Amino acid sequence: MSKGLISEQGKQQADRIVDRDHLSEFLASELQISRFRDYCPNGVQVEGRSEIKVLVSGVTASLALLQAAVELQADAILVHHGYFWRGEDMRVIGQKQRRLKLLLENDISLFAYHLPLDMHPQLGNNAQLADVLGLVPDARFGDDDLGWLGTVDTGAATLGDLAARIEQRLGRVPLLIGDPAQKLGASARVGWCTGAAQNMLGDAIAAGARVYLSGEISEPTVHLARESGVAYIACGHHATERYGVQALGRHIAQQFGITHHFVDIDNPV
Ligand SMILES: [Zn+2]
Repeated sequence: MSKGLISEQGKQQADRIVDRDHLSEFLASELQISRFRDYCPNGVQVEGRSEIKVLVSGVTASLALLQAAVELQADAILVHHGYFWRGEDMRVIGQKQRRLKLLLENDISLFAYHLPLDMHPQLGNNAQLADVLGLVPDARFGDDDLGWLGTVDTGAATLGDLAARIEQRLGRVPLLIGDPAQKLGASARVGWCTGAAQNMLGDAIAAGARVYLSGEISEPTVHLARESGVAYIACGHHATERYGVQALGRHIAQQFGITHHFVDIDNPV
């Protein structure tokens, strides 16, 4: 499947079946969902058929992802950004109606994991982004230890080198607030948190970071970075959160012998 912005990026073919409720229990335990106070329900958000042979994963349960899943004959969809966020309009109208209708008509389950997927020590977004970018974690910071802290592996002598590496590995030009010539020694402290984590810059500074990476950036973040002398690299919300759900999908496929497709719906933010 490849239609411009939509691409199927990974596929594991197998022929076994897992029961929906069994998978839900497995993931509740694997991701320790009861430990998190989150902005959305973690687990099965929409119930489809009980037998799962084909799983489609993606970052966000957008209409485009659901349509791709229908085309791939998915029994279930696994995402990082699901539905029913705290404070949202509860009515089933407009965008929400179209999404839910497509899921329900096709009897496809929606599994969504937000903070538990950010935080998993191996399969999570922060862990997987560290692997992709060559970041070596050794500490945590911020509320609920959501931020990760560590060093950059060898090969990025300056901030500019690190930005170039991010561009090459994420396929996206990051926004760098700082001096590209700034040296990054082997012991330089780097903080990171995937997604919309611009509000954690202050915590990263307090924790001793010299460089902070996240997905999004806001107007005030730029001033805090400049005035603190701590560099900020905004790498893209979607781009930094492509890896956790993919790793979790692969893990499920290996565990239960089912077919898994990761579908990337491009998002420039
Ligand atoms: Zn996110």
